[in-house]
Amino acid sequence: MSTRTNLTGELLIGAAGVAATAGTMKALDPATGEFLEPEFAFGGAAEVDRALRLADDAFDAYSHTSLAGRAAFLDLVADKLEAAKDELAARAALETGLPAAQLESEAVRTAGVFRRFADVVRAGRLLQVSVDTAQPDRLPAARMDHRLQKVALGPVVVFGASNFPISYSVLGGDTASALAAGCPVVVKAHNAHPGASEIQGRVIRQAVAESGLPEGVFSLVRGAGNEIGEALVDHPLVRAVTFTGSEAGGMALYRRAQRRPDPVPVFTEMTSVNPTFVLPAALAARGAEIGAGLVQRAMYNVGQACLKPAVLLAVDGPGFGELRDAAAAEIRRAAARTMLTPGIHDAYTRGTRRTEDGGATLVGAGTDPVRAGDGQALLFEVTGERLLAEPALREETFGPAVLLVRLTGVEQLFEVARAFRGQLSATVQADGADRDAAERLLPILERRTGRIVFNAFSIPQEVSHATTHGGPFPATSDSRFTSVGMGAIERFVRPVTYQNFPDDLLPEPLREANPLHLWRLVDGEPGRH
Ligand code: NAP
Repeated sequence: MSTRTNLTGELLIGAAGVAATAGTMKALDPATGEFLEPEFAFGGAAEVDRALRLADDAFDAYSHTSLAGRAAFLDLVADKLEAAKDELAARAALETGLPAAQLESEAVRTAGVFRRFADVVRAGRLLQVSVDTAQPDRLPAARMDHRLQKVALGPVVVFGASNFPISYSVLGGDTASALAAGCPVVVKAHNAHPGASEIQGRVIRQAVAESGLPEGVFSLVRGAGNEIGEALVDHPLVRAVTFTGSEAGGMALYRRAQRRPDPVPVFTEMTSVNPTFVLPAALAARGAEIGAGLVQRAMYNVGQACLKPAVLLAVDGPGFGELRDAAAAEIRRAAARTMLTPGIHDAYTRGTRRTEDGGATLVGAGTDPVRAGDGQALLFEVTGERLLAEPALREETFGPAVLLVRLTGVEQLFEVARAFRGQLSATVQADGADRDAAERLLPILERRTGRIVFNAFSIPQEVSHATTHGGPFPATSDSRFTSVGMGAIERFVRPVTYQNFPDDLLPEPLREANPLHLWRLVDGEPGRH
């Protein structure tokens, strides 16, 4: 049963609702340009300090909750999120201009992510226990007993993103994976959707209270300008930071954390154009289908998606005209739609101007904008030569624009592939006769991306054990990790080895009898032993 949240606009610091100490703001309806009630509180360094002290106080108890207990908490968050989905979607739709039905399904998918993390916790896999038993008679030197498990890092700060106000925001994969790892979380709410953030914050807070967990397991803070973000990254009790947003913002926070007396990891997910390479046989056979299919996916979320397939590359030859015509026809069908914020709309306008200044020509446009904040769908075309000469054409334009690149041959396709910076994903469209070219292209892409898609599209994305949502810089600041999928938990744990311990002093997961029936690596052999 859904119960309505009474939005108070307070900061949610542990169990307390905290009033403004540094001014207030109202949410903006980007469709009408009107402000929405209520006023939302801004806090400052003192509120950051309060939230992080509570998080640190909660850490020992929360990180040592039983696996079953922590999993039950994550399941409870999922249940409460589902119960709040109508209200959350309605408020998020007002604050973002995105369709309520889409946001409802985002809420349901996000609840599913919490449940999958609960399964991961319950199975104890996150502990990654390894046991190397003592070998007193080993020559030339005896081996002592060594037992390793992964433990939680400590309080984590999450910067919610603007573009998916649930799945990458307060209740997103960053929060879910950090809580699953056993880390208390302090979320810096994105000011583009403060009401949706509060609803989600209250969902977690209620689950914390009903689970009997310490209040500091979760807090939600909000502030004006960069100060609150900087105070969060600087705070001595923070052990890790996650961020989804612009390259400039992500790198500013990353560099700041490296300048701390005790540097901490900042896992940023920043920018990607997700290039799609259409090889000649696939182009000849399926050019129109690929062109139309790609544009449909690129328009998802008004093009404001990190996985938007923004650049479509094909060799000029049989099928190219069909690809371009189908892509242009699909663009013409796309209605101008409200973008997330006036700032993002302005950045889109600047980005499309930069594309034209870089030498691209407009080959198709969607319906004209009706309101000031509407983003018009645009299809540009450029030569491979220009793309190679103009780095700006290889950068993200956040919004409903697609760039079609006309290449002179497969050799130029490889050269262009090498010119891209790190990506979250890259796609290969290839048929049987493209095998040799595909084999040459794959190692080039593997070096530059976290996910390679074959004869499909980068959207939608699965959230599973095998998901990678990461990639070399500037897709992320650390290509060894993923921010989506079960592997996201790895960012928030570290290994600890217990050497030569008596069994009864060991943590339960490491004990000889394996009382939790965990999957463990014992003397190199995997199994439940
Ligand atoms: P953003 O400007 O990078 O902001 C993200 C969050 O970080 C906000 O909470 C922001 O706080 C905070 N922040 C940014 N820079 C900061 C700094 N130097 N110090 C302290 N805090 C800082 O991202 P956005 O508002 O979501 O969107 C802007 C642009 O980011 C888009 O046009 C797009 O290019 C890119 N973007 C990319 C992705 C992606 O997935 N690739 C997703 C979203 C956005 P304030 O709001 O208070 O400034």
